[in-house]
Amino acid sequence: MADIDLGFAEERESAWLTNRYFPSKIGGKPAWLELEKLPSNKELLCETCQEPKAFLCQIYAPFEDEHNFHRTIYVFVCRSAGCQVSNSARHLTVYRSQLPRKNEFYSEQPPIEEGSPLPEIQSSKKLCKACGCSGPLACSRCRNVNYCSAKHQRAHWPHHKKICMAENQCGTESINIFLPNISFPEWEIVVEANDAGEETATDNDDGSVEEKNLAEYQNLVEVGETGTLKDVAESELDKYANESVAADDKIFRKFRKEVSKDPDQVVRYGRGGTPLWIADVEQTIAQQLQIPNCELCGGERQFEYQIMPQMLNLLKDDQLDWGTLTVYTCSKSCRLPNDKGYVREYIVKQDIISNENKK
Ligand SMILES: [Zn+2]
Ligand SMILES: [Zn+2]
Ligand SMILES: [Zn+2]
Ligand SMILES: [Zn+2]
Repeated sequence: MADIDLGFAEERESAWLTNRYFPSKIGGKPAWLELEKLPSNKELLCETCQEPKAFLCQIYAPFEDEHNFHRTIYVFVCRSAGCQVSNSARHLTVYRSQLPRKNEFYSEQPPIEEGSPLPEIQSSKKLCKACGCSGPLACSRCRNVNYCSAKHQRAHWPHHKKICMAENQCGTESINIFLPNISFPEWEIVVEANDAGEETATDNDDGSVEEKNLAEYQNLVEVGETGTLKDVAESELDKYANESVAADDKIFRKFRKEVSKDPDQVVRYGRGGTPLWIADVEQTIAQQLQIPNCELCGGERQFEYQIMPQMLNLLKDDQLDWGTLTVYTCSKSCRLPNDKGYVREYIVKQDIISNENKK
């Protein structure tokens, strides 16, 4: 089994999370890698409700060949309440972007993360002031700011109004405001190699190891050694404890046991590996697992990373819910056509089904 690396959310100044530094992150605005051929606004509308999808997270994951010297996988999600359907990923979209080492946007030398952060690398394209996606619509009054949609312009208006109405506009709005209904709170994702002895004790399914881990974890929580995410992890653990009553099966116990080793994990990364399922795939997502081949090269897709339920605690959005989201990408990470900076990949959503639904 391929190694799984764990991703943890950490607070980081927004200026270090721009495209210049090739971040992996949750929320805020997308740090676009390719800067000219962004996904269109139409592509980013939810198929079901036609609202713009929100940027959820991105993982910087370069690949071993020259065309993937830089490579980032993005996830977008519709936040409408009516679009959250159990075991359906219809409201989610994944994009892959990549660049060779020699490219028109970035230096061939790695960025230096010392001193003060440098400004982000600007796109020549206008971006939405509210969400950071393509913004073809300019404010009709001042023409200084752009939006992806009338909806985002309305949402941003209370912040833009004063500057827009000012007699002498200085032309730029440098303050980066995150509107909570549009952008999620921003966190860096730090991916660390998992050296916790993955798979060494997982065949032991009698629950005793798990209980021991949980007990250790509880102690850790009480002495407060889990840092800033202490409360987050604790509330998530309670949630598992409750849900486990409804979904007390072998797969869920394994999930819980793995998670209890590193309760703050928000992402599990392992190209070509196997996801950690939260429930029986046959009963929940067998249909979604008919993963289509890459539309570009015809090659197979493989698992690349999964988003854990812990991430939900950081998003401040009660509408959203998932057991786990698993992302599948072209196994060759094939070259993009000349007219595309971003191509779609595939995502699966798995939820715990409660006993009432389980037949
Ligand atoms: Zn929707
Ligand atoms: Zn927008
Ligand atoms: Zn204006
Ligand atoms: Zn491909």
